Amino acid sequence: MTHHTIILGAGAAGLHCAAYAVGQGRSTLVIDHAKAPGDKIRISGGGRCNFTNTRTAPKHFLSTNPHFAKSALARYTPADFVALVERHGIAWHEKTLGQLFCDGSAKQIVAMLRDEMERAGADLWLNTTIVEVEKTEAGFAVTVERDGKRQTLSCANLVVATGGKSIPKMGATGFGYDLARQFGLPIVEPRPALVPFTLTGALHEEVKALAGVSVQGRVTAGQGGRGTTFDEAILFTHRGLSGPAVLQASSYWREGEMVRLSLAPQRDLADALLERAQAGDGKKTVETVLATMLPERLAHDICARAGVSGRLAEQGRKSLSRLNAAANDWQIIPAGTEGYRTAEVTLGGVDTDALSSQTMEAKAVQGLYFIGEVVDVTGWLGGYNFQWAWASAFAAGRAIATT
Ligand code: FAD
Repeated sequence: MTHHTIILGAGAAGLHCAAYAVGQGRSTLVIDHAKAPGDKIRISGGGRCNFTNTRTAPKHFLSTNPHFAKSALARYTPADFVALVERHGIAWHEKTLGQLFCDGSAKQIVAMLRDEMERAGADLWLNTTIVEVEKTEAGFAVTVERDGKRQTLSCANLVVATGGKSIPKMGATGFGYDLARQFGLPIVEPRPALVPFTLTGALHEEVKALAGVSVQGRVTAGQGGRGTTFDEAILFTHRGLSGPAVLQASSYWREGEMVRLSLAPQRDLADALLERAQAGDGKKTVETVLATMLPERLAHDICARAGVSGRLAEQGRKSLSRLNAAANDWQIIPAGTEGYRTAEVTLGGVDTDALSSQTMEAKAVQGLYFIGEVVDVTGWLGGYNFQWAWASAFAAGRAIATT
């Protein structure tokens, strides 16, 4: 069977690309090994899909080439996706920091993408195993297994939208990277990102005792030029550290590096406690007063780590400064991360040097495109990864439709 375009992967990028790639009714087929399309969309944003971010800018993406994503992001904006969502009558709201979510369910986004794809005339094959991909004179030969039968399809354009390695339980594979290597394209070593930190030893015991506590904090990770700070929630868990600020920081962290936590970044706790002493709280213990500013268990932990106890009025500036440092300059070295099992995305991927930033086509292999998470472009938490999926899919789809 001959197709103009075959898209491997019916996730966010693959489904969106199909709607644009069809062009003048030319045969387009989307293939996925999963039972249903868009599985990650369905579970995203706690089931409500944080489908874009109105503040999208190139600075919200990590890539070996920070300029690569600019063109695609400029040509398909959050407003374009919102217009599509509204055309489908899907109600949405802004939660925080420009993050847009469905009012109802993430399933609405999957249904919308499927509808757009089918309306354009593209076909979808699910439960289909990709056995082999080969280059031919006219394009590509894709051997698949479907309903127990093996068949070889041919196409002029092959779009790889098989995502990253995150959450293998949901069907994520390193297929896209292997395919890129097969065609001689370089790969920036993939690693789990937007992922909780794990801890060991005494630090793990200390944090385990805080499990369930959450604060609006600040996390700084990454050394040298990679150093970045995030002001969002920090969550202590049985395994280590999570919450948006920690997940964001994990994308900038490398093994063995220190991470700096600030648990009350809005104020110097030494100043705040001195004010409270002057205001009549001097007879209370430091712990008691600190527990009015921070969650109780955290206040106890900070006092213990700083070695500060007793009445507030008895504390000198030095011990209160030590206490502030224990809260606002807590330097820890994570043992690692929870890995691909829980990572929201995969950092790294197909090296952008090998792709056209206008079309996502491989410079060295005519008709071969890579879009979405499989590419070495990774967004921050907050709808940026879907925006990259939509934008890169649109760039490739439009290019294919006009060739
Ligand atoms: P995917 O959506 O992962 O799609 C890849 C497709 O390829 C899948 O359907 C898969 O089955 C298929 N596939 C893989 N290997 C093969 C193979 N060998 N053969 C056949 N098919 C294959 N981002 C946001 O912006 N907002 C959010 O709210 C958000 N929430 C998330 C929540 C969770 C729990 C997770 C894990 C991620 C979340 N993300 C979110 C990230 C976002 O889901 C991804 O960045 C996005 O789905 C990437 O789109 P993609 O099309 O490139 O890959």
